[in-house]
Amino acid sequence: MTMSTTLTILVPVFNEAETLPAFHRRLATVLDGLDLAADILYVDDGSTDASRAAIAALREQDARVGLLALSRNFGKEIAMAAGLDHAKGDAVVIIDADLQDPPELIPQLVAKWHEGYDVVYATRTDRDGESWLKKATAHAFYRVIHHAATFEIPRDTGDFRLLSRRAVEALRRLPEQHRFMKGLFTWIGFRQTGIPYHREPRHAGQTKWNYWRLWNFALEGITSFTTAPLRLATYLGFLIALLAFAYGLWIVLGTLLHGNPVAGYPSLMAVVLFLGGIQLLFIGILGEYIGRMFDESKRRPLYLIDAYQPSVLTRSEST
Ligand code: UDP
Ligand code: MG
Repeated sequence: MTMSTTLTILVPVFNEAETLPAFHRRLATVLDGLDLAADILYVDDGSTDASRAAIAALREQDARVGLLALSRNFGKEIAMAAGLDHAKGDAVVIIDADLQDPPELIPQLVAKWHEGYDVVYATRTDRDGESWLKKATAHAFYRVIHHAATFEIPRDTGDFRLLSRRAVEALRRLPEQHRFMKGLFTWIGFRQTGIPYHREPRHAGQTKWNYWRLWNFALEGITSFTTAPLRLATYLGFLIALLAFAYGLWIVLGTLLHGNPVAGYPSLMAVVLFLGGIQLLFIGILGEYIGRMFDESKRRPLYLIDAYQPSVLTRSEST
C-alpha cells in the first residue's frame, strides 16, 4: 500500500449532539496518528436535536469532515447504506458516534486491511453497561441466526468494522429495502477477519434500541436470510395430518366396535382451538414474508438526501 491510499470514517448519527464533540476529538487524535489520508463522513439520520449544527461546527474546524444529511430518520441500517454510497476512501470504517466503539482500534483495523483483508470486524469481548436481559436476548439472537442462516454470522459483532473498496462496492450492489447489515456484511464473502475489543458503555444520551425495536430487528434478520419458518409449517402440517389420520382411524374403529355414545366435546374444542391457533400463527409468518415482498416490489429509493457537504478529500485514482 502506498501513502496515497485513503480512508473514510463513516459515522451514522441520530440525536448525538451531546457526544459528538468528545467523539470527534478522540477520533481526530487517532486519525492524526495514521499515515494515510482520512476523512470523516457524518451521516445525520434525521436528528431532531442539535446534531446537525454540531456536525456543521466540526466541519468549520476540521476540513476532513463531510456531512450527509438525510431527509428524515431512516434508521441506522439505511444511514450506513447512504454513507457507503458517498464514502470516498479506498477503505471505509463504520463506527458508532456514542463512543461505544473505541476509535483507538482503527489503526488495528487498518493494519489488517493492509495485510489484505476485505472485511475487518471488531468483536466485543464483553458488554459493560448493558442489562443482563439485553445480553441474554442478544446471545439468544446470535444462536438462532447462526443456525438459521446458511452461512456463519460472527457472534457479538456489531457494525464497527473496516470494509475495503471492493467490499463497499459489493454492498452497494445489494438493493434490498430490508437491510439486515450484519448478515449482508457476511454474505458478500471475500477475506474477513475479526479483532477482539472491549465495548464501553454509552458516553452520553440514550440508546435508540428498545426491546420492541430489537424484536423487529431479530425478525428482520431471520426473514431476510432464511425461509426456515415457512418450511416449519410444511413439517408441522405433515405431522398433524399424520396424527389426525391415526386418531380418525381410532374413532372409526371404536364406533364400529362399541357404537357411539356422542361424547367428546372437550377433546373437540381442544383440537379445534389448537389447529386454529397453529393456522393463525403460520398465516402470520406467511404475512411477514409477503409484507417484505410488498416493500421490495415498490422499488422505492433507500433514502432521500436533504444536504451533502463533502469533505476536502479527493477520491483517489484507484477507485
Ligand atoms: N443511529 C442512527 N439512526 C437511528 C438510530 C441510531 O444513525 O435511527 C446511530 C446512532 O447515532 C449511533 C449508532 O447508530 O451512532 C448506534 O445507535 P445506538 O447507540 O442507539 O445503538 P446501540 O449501541 O444501543 O446498539
Ligand atoms: Mg450505542
